[in-house]
Amino acid sequence: MATWDKTLISRYGGPGPRYTSYPPAPQFHEEVSESDYAEAIDAGNAARRPLSLYVHIPFCSTVCYYCACNRVVTANHGRAAEYLKRLKQEIGLRAEQVDSQRPVTQIHWGGGTPTFLSDAQITELV
Ligand code: SF4
Repeated sequence: MATWDKTLISRYGGPGPRYTSYPPAPQFHEEVSESDYAEAIDAGNAARRPLSLYVHIPFCSTVCYYCACNRVVTANHGRAAEYLKRLKQEIGLRAEQVDSQRPVTQIHWGGGTPTFLSDAQITELV
């Protein structure tokens, strides 16, 4: 006979964020300031907390109509080069804030379709 855990049901029984995004979109609001962000990074640096990295590659060659990802549907693979240039700038800016001794324990690539990139672009990004 099944047993029902009311606490568990109430915890997961409502709408939730999409699992692919962390922090999820509802967590982005104006009450989280730049200084909050900097303080969180400093606290992570002080604790040498391991890092999980997410890299968003937004391009898809074809559209899937059920998909709600933030993606750009295009057959033009040339668009990736400009995106990667700006992505590298962002990585550089973030890297300046993070203690380089913190271990990276997880890397997640999402999109979009990360294999939209060429082998050479993937190698360079890694
Ligand atoms: S992100 Fe994945 S599911 Fe969404 S359109 Fe691109 S290939 Fe399809």
